[in-house]
Amino acid sequence: MRLNPKSFQKKILDWFDKNGRKNLPWQQNKTPYRVWISEIMLQQTQVATVIPYYLKFIDRFPDIETLANASQDEVMHYWTGLGYYTRAKNIWQSAKRIQEYFSGQFPNNFLDIESLPGIGRSTAGAILSIAFKQAHPILDGNVKRVLTRLMGVREWPGEKKTSEKLWQLSEELTPAERVDEYTQAIMDLGATLCVRGKPACHRCPLQKDCIAHKKGIQKNLPAAKPKKKIPVRETHFLMLQDKDKIFLQKRPPSGIWANLWAFPEFPEKFSTAKIKKWIASTVECEIFKITRLENFRHTFSHFHLDIVPVLISIKRKNKREIMPDFHWYDLKNPAQIGLPAPVKKLLFTWIPRIKRGMTSL
Ligand code: SF4
Repeated sequence: MRLNPKSFQKKILDWFDKNGRKNLPWQQNKTPYRVWISEIMLQQTQVATVIPYYLKFIDRFPDIETLANASQDEVMHYWTGLGYYTRAKNIWQSAKRIQEYFSGQFPNNFLDIESLPGIGRSTAGAILSIAFKQAHPILDGNVKRVLTRLMGVREWPGEKKTSEKLWQLSEELTPAERVDEYTQAIMDLGATLCVRGKPACHRCPLQKDCIAHKKGIQKNLPAAKPKKKIPVRETHFLMLQDKDKIFLQKRPPSGIWANLWAFPEFPEKFSTAKIKKWIASTVECEIFKITRLENFRHTFSHFHLDIVPVLISIKRKNKREIMPDFHWYDLKNPAQIGLPAPVKKLLFTWIPRIKRGMTSL
């Protein structure tokens, strides 16, 4: 089936005029900087989750210069809880690059924007169309869902050939005029009507053209990625606790939770003797109790991590630590640093419960 781009655009824009979202925080006082931050936060994250993080972030870092001059730890702190932390690191590095190479002005052409860390073709297209009104296609998760259903594409969109086909379609359908509103409209349509579980086809302006609707196969599209069993890894989180202070270590600059602050990990089999040896190499202290707690699972896209928390109550003999890059996190007066979700959960939910004598999680 061939779609008429003009009639498609009209249907989308007419629907947007009546139903589109026009009061989102990044749609007010629109600047390339504010659009950029919102687009990065919205990657893999829903609007309702993003809004409070976005407001706090913009309040603290209102422009590129402020962001570029902040510490990476502080930027990570403002991202804590939002997940996919590489995004925060990329934003911070991009701000520095914009200061250095683009005189502090957010670039306004595709190649320069796409050269910034963490910005791919779709995000660059969204920034150019929304912030600069330049006609560039996008293909984020919402748009992929609309287009695969509309055209009845049964192949997995992550497959190269299918992805190329969808990009070509997105390009053909993108208008030269009102492109900022069109981009917002097609994203909104995917987020509010053409949703994952049960799309609201009865309210959709594309219903008459939609192949998935005609065939009743909306729920099967887009096709899921062919399944691959993901491996399971196990690790121990060693939680050294001296009253209200908990020992944290900065993670390496690459790998999972890069640059965030976490409990030291102990990948070997649990053994009190080995853990005592590790403590002796970390901090001079008197050990009161070592408690192995109930394990829990944290799942990444490519593996499951089974975490065994080990709470080690100690009293430091002096303030001299042996390990580098450490921080005694004060539960009563927490520092503004980035924490991975399982570490945050242990610090604020579990450790206070354990201190109250509830050793079972
Ligand atoms: S008719 Fe239904 S499946 Fe088709 S684009 Fe609209 S909401 Fe999506």
